Amino acid sequence: MSDPLWLADVLRAEGLQVVEHEGWRERGHGDFRDLRGVLCHHTAGGGTRDWQIVQYGRQDLAGPLAQLVLERDGTYRVIAAGVCWHAGRGSHPGWPTDDANFHVIGIEAVSRGDGSDWTPAQLDAYKRGCAAILRHIGRTASDCVAHREYSSEGKIDPAGIDMDQFRHEVQAIIDGTPGGTMAALEETFVNFRGDTVTLGTAIRYIDQYVNELREQITGPIPMEGWPQLGDLTLVDAVALIGAELKIPGFTDPRTKSA
Ligand SMILES: [Zn+2]
Repeated sequence: MSDPLWLADVLRAEGLQVVEHEGWRERGHGDFRDLRGVLCHHTAGGGTRDWQIVQYGRQDLAGPLAQLVLERDGTYRVIAAGVCWHAGRGSHPGWPTDDANFHVIGIEAVSRGDGSDWTPAQLDAYKRGCAAILRHIGRTASDCVAHREYSSEGKIDPAGIDMDQFRHEVQAIIDGTPGGTMAALEETFVNFRGDTVTLGTAIRYIDQYVNELREQITGPIPMEGWPQLGDLTLVDAVALIGAELKIPGFTDPRTKSA
């Protein structure tokens, strides 16, 4: 199986805001056969609850309907890692005709669908998200396709986006970011608890815990110490107590700065 369990990590590594929906790694209509590109859609809704239809489906079509939902503020919702029903019938060079769902990742961007309400943050995230995915699966921007380009069923989405210009910018993003950096972040290792985690995840936790630990010792930024320790850091407070108790080697930290 080649399900994109890396979706959230790859988008985050591109600097994008990501919300991982409960159970996304197991959600879908079976496993991908292989990954060949990205199919771009609009939701034709435009509201904050559009994602619910994408995740849960509608009367005539069971969810999930796309792996990703792109909100108007540029945030990605990761809905599913498995196959989703979004492509319908159509064709694109290099993709199997009328069978793209098992080979391409669908992005449903929240929009009314008349091409007039895209936000700058959303368009920026749309290109960067497509670029991050295509780079990861070793494809170029030519496999970043609008539903209306692919479809033989008269689809119009995503309305208002010039796909030639869009692909041009997606390719520039793919070319501009060193692939090695990204690949390294997605490498996995077994941590001290025995869990398999990506390097990217480990770095996020290290960053968080190092800062929490530093704050324990020095006090909150901007390192003015702790009010309950007379604005001394934890280390200086211990040194002062030692100096007062005349323990050899302990010195009053206030004398050296005075
Ligand atoms: Zn569509």
